[in-house]
Amino acid sequence: METHVYNESFRRFEPKKKVCLFCKTKALNSSMEDNCFSSVYNIQNRTNIVVYRNVKFNEVKIGIPRCSKCCSVHSMAKISSYVTVFVGVLLVFIIPIYLAVQFDLGTIGMIFLVILMFGLVYLAVLAVEKAILSTYDVISEKDGAMKEPLVREFLRNGWSLDRPTA
Ligand SMILES: [Zn+2]
Repeated sequence: METHVYNESFRRFEPKKKVCLFCKTKALNSSMEDNCFSSVYNIQNRTNIVVYRNVKFNEVKIGIPRCSKCCSVHSMAKISSYVTVFVGVLLVFIIPIYLAVQFDLGTIGMIFLVILMFGLVYLAVLAVEKAILSTYDVISEKDGAMKEPLVREFLRNGWSLDRPTA
């Protein structure tokens, strides 16, 4: 019941299945590079993973079948959120400084506005990504990863989708 093939040179598990997990159209994946490769990290240092017992990893990539349409929707969502961050970072500083000077708010007022702007930019980035994904009826990379049985198996064995901070 092996669902993936391990690729030594890329240090990743390549999916054998082709049906896309991200859209409802059940489109078929046609190129290995269209797949979504999601990193999982070994957080507890107990490498008792059933699939690849004899190799020790700190990080490994697991391929989740993805069609070319979902691949481009995901990269479009990423580019849009970078653009939002870029515009947002400019606004984070420009708007508070402008308002503070205009209305004589002082340092405390300006700091408050900067924090408020950071919050708004963060929400805007999430909203942009969500809007693009829902327009095309595609689920996020992380949600797709959670649907992949091999990813879930790693998570059960103490691995994490989030990069360890320490
Ligand atoms: Zn798809």
